[in-house]
Amino acid sequence: MFKEERKESMFNWQMLGDIKAGRPNLCSTMDVSVYRLMQFTLRDILIKEFGVEAANKIFYQAGKKAGQELYKNAITPKKNFNEFIVELQELLKNLKIGILRVEKTDMEGLNFTLTVAEDLDCSGLPVCDEEICTYDEGFIDGLLSEHTGKKFIVKEVDCWCSGDRVCRFVVKPAE
Ligand SMILES: [Zn+2]
Repeated sequence: MFKEERKESMFNWQMLGDIKAGRPNLCSTMDVSVYRLMQFTLRDILIKEFGVEAANKIFYQAGKKAGQELYKNAITPKKNFNEFIVELQELLKNLKIGILRVEKTDMEGLNFTLTVAEDLDCSGLPVCDEEICTYDEGFIDGLLSEHTGKKFIVKEVDCWCSGDRVCRFVVKPAE
């Protein structure tokens, strides 16, 4: 699983295991601080070892993989964008990832603006003048690219950490 060297991603959904069987008493929930502890220590060490740019690239790519796999394993494929968003909103709320809203949809130009409130990654963090949700940028990229079959670049423009109360993501088609 993790001892095999690889040039391509080898992730598959089965790696997440049978959580019901494995945690009959503790079940599938845990504290948000544990998720953040894991993510932020990992990011901290990635920055120390490889620098900010490489760490961000890894986080974006990992988030993208997560978005693609979540789409393939938890979303019913549908052609209509609005129906896809409705299902995605419900899923992200049920998984307690955040509350998704769509502010702008331009299907022709493939430009979108999305917000996530109560975001799992950053809501409540100290304000530091940074947009920190790089994993979420990739995550949204993965979800949208799976749905549309197109390539995107996703950039967070507002974040709890930059002083906003929601995270705002601008989605543009990749050149
Ligand atoms: Zn954010």
